[in-house]
Amino acid sequence: MTIVETPTSTVPLGGPSLPQERRLVTSIPGPKSQALQARKAQAVSAGVGVTLPVYIVAAGGGVLVDVDGNSLIDLGSGIAVTGVGNSAPQVVEAVAAQLAQFTHTCFTVAPYDSYIEVAETLNRLTPGDHAKRSALFNSGAEAVENAVKIARHYTGKQAVVAFDHAYHGRTTLTMGLTAKNQPYKNGFGPFAAELYRAPMSYPYRDGGLDGVVAAKRAISQIEKQIGAENLAAVIIEPIQGEGGFIVPAPGFLPTLVDWCRANKVVFIADEVQTGFARTGDMFASDHEGIVPDLMVMAKGIAGGLPLSAVTGRAEIMDSPQVGGIGGTYGGNPLACAAALATMAAYESENLVARAREIGAILTGRLNAIRTADKRVGDVRGRGAMIAVELVDAVTGEPDAALTGRVVAAAHAQGVILLTCGTYGNVIRFLPPLSIPDGLLIEGLQVVQAALAAA
Ligand SMILES: *Cc1c(COP(=O)(O)O)cnc(C)c1O
Repeated sequence: MTIVETPTSTVPLGGPSLPQERRLVTSIPGPKSQALQARKAQAVSAGVGVTLPVYIVAAGGGVLVDVDGNSLIDLGSGIAVTGVGNSAPQVVEAVAAQLAQFTHTCFTVAPYDSYIEVAETLNRLTPGDHAKRSALFNSGAEAVENAVKIARHYTGKQAVVAFDHAYHGRTTLTMGLTAKNQPYKNGFGPFAAELYRAPMSYPYRDGGLDGVVAAKRAISQIEKQIGAENLAAVIIEPIQGEGGFIVPAPGFLPTLVDWCRANKVVFIADEVQTGFARTGDMFASDHEGIVPDLMVMAKGIAGGLPLSAVTGRAEIMDSPQVGGIGGTYGGNPLACAAALATMAAYESENLVARAREIGAILTGRLNAIRTADKRVGDVRGRGAMIAVELVDAVTGEPDAALTGRVVAAAHAQGVILLTCGTYGNVIRFLPPLSIPDGLLIEGLQVVQAALAAA
């Protein structure tokens, strides 16, 4: 007789009431995850990679629970998305209520008020007290594309500058803005025209070049190679994400903003990864008080539902002709309901302060490791967006192989950990802001042990 499993009776519900513990009951990945990974290979494009093939059935607080019954510590938040936690109760309630009302009309066909309320909230939360407008989309890359479209329309100019180590997405336009060839661009060209690259401020690897000097170096290259009269926009991540959590030296961003404003160039901050309390400010731009002309947001905006946005100066955002901006699903009502509950939680639960607490725990412990271990070249980032750069202890060269061993060992011990960096030698910590301190510290101890053994 075969026993038929009834998943609904064994699968735990997600959300913060899940037991907040690391619990391994099989090797990682367990047999059921391995079977699913084999099915994936037969059904899903090989181009869609998986960092750690544990198949998830529930998540909340600071854990992910897999199909084999393992409970893993989440230090990735699905790439900085679930800042408020997975299946946060307010988000679940808001989405469920909307689900029972209606699921879709297309805002550009027959609109609804939650889209407007999301726009009003973004206009209020983003830096600057000038008149603003917002438009909603589905993914970070789609929002970046639209920010570029809007900047070109407003300025009547075409060129766009992005920076070394930049990541802006995987669509044709955003691939061109993204710096790294493997795996993001290789074989996918040709790329869109009129995209240029400027040198970044990367204090750990540029000899600690002063931020203003680094900005002037970039500006000089832009003026010589492109010309402000041809330049529609400069786009930059205030702290680079995929590129390695690179925090530019103080003065770099304000100098670029000033130059853009003096030269009728739209300054676009890509805050897709840094936005919504992640860095210990509501936005990373707040740290040095810069006021971007346009801001692109996505990941942390809606507790895991797909939504992205461009918010910016009213005169720029109102430039495109009616119908020039939009899409079928942009600002979907379920995603808007989730975003309103999520953004309310960032404010009411003071998650900006929580991100700073998490940052203090991370940097305190990681700096202690760095002092004792010369392979930890740099500890950097802000708030709950912290990274370590691993290097050869003698030469200081990036050590991607060591990084791979550390991350693999942490995975085997039930800690979800991500890498990044142009040289593949950066471990990034992006825990949900809902993670309990004890679990965060346990996760760090696992990483520390993995580094000691590697
Ligand atoms: C993730 C990311 C994007 C792309 O967002 P998607 O939703 O994956 O399209 C763009 N910019 C930055 C800074 C990102 O981190």
